[in-house]
Amino acid sequence: MKLTILGTGSPLPIPNRAQTGFLLEKDERLLLVDCGSGIYARLQSLNVDWQRLDTVLLTHHHLDHMSDLLTIFTARWLLGYPNITVYGPRGTRSLIRQWMALFPYVEDFVRAQTHEFNANQVAQIAGFEAETMEMRHFVTSLSYKFDRTLVICGDSDPLPALKTFAQGCRLMIHECSYTDAQADQGHTNPTDLGKVLAGSNLEELWLTHFYPEAAAHGDDVVAAVKQYFTGKVCLTQDLQQAKLSTSLNGGRPASAGG
Ligand SMILES: [Zn+2]
Ligand SMILES: [Zn+2]
Repeated sequence: MKLTILGTGSPLPIPNRAQTGFLLEKDERLLLVDCGSGIYARLQSLNVDWQRLDTVLLTHHHLDHMSDLLTIFTARWLLGYPNITVYGPRGTRSLIRQWMALFPYVEDFVRAQTHEFNANQVAQIAGFEAETMEMRHFVTSLSYKFDRTLVICGDSDPLPALKTFAQGCRLMIHECSYTDAQADQGHTNPTDLGKVLAGSNLEELWLTHFYPEAAAHGDDVVAAVKQYFTGKVCLTQDLQQAKLSTSLNGGRPASAGG
């Protein structure tokens, strides 16, 4: 699969960082994971095939993860592709329905199907196997494991259960909103994240969702994580990409227990 980090920012503005979004691609299928402000523009800069971009998966219902959703719906409709499927945590169905009802010209023409996830579910989404884990945030927030290879975490405190959830995976993308000095509940600081991943067999940890302080002290953030986590640690930039062979298409042996 191919991963593109579309945005690495947060609700607070930082130059050159859109809000949160990820694009996954495999076998001609596309899956957009989150779409905060700026993600529509990033998709245009990639010259994305809008016809194929028919599935969106949400980690949670904060605006920095979904504010471009109706813009994307509208672009697809005007291009002749009115059908779109949105997956997300509990409440996704009513939220999309209410949001579209505010804009009758969208509601009249866009045909959105919605599906809701709970924790510990496994489903097929746009050709990917996705498994869910509930995080701890101000609203219900889910992490997703794709093809037993890649974990994209919803906003949260760092949770010890992540180490088991990510066992056998190659890459985890986790938020790092704060520096250690700003530590607070509901988001992540680097030392606490390193502690919960100590002893993990993850190959790489990519940090994202920066608030300005964390973005300005990237070297300190990485050093703090590395006190405990021994894999590679990376501060993501917008439009950074990775190619990952997955356990489900013969690239890597399946991990025991998945
Ligand atoms: Zn959030
Ligand atoms: Zn967020």
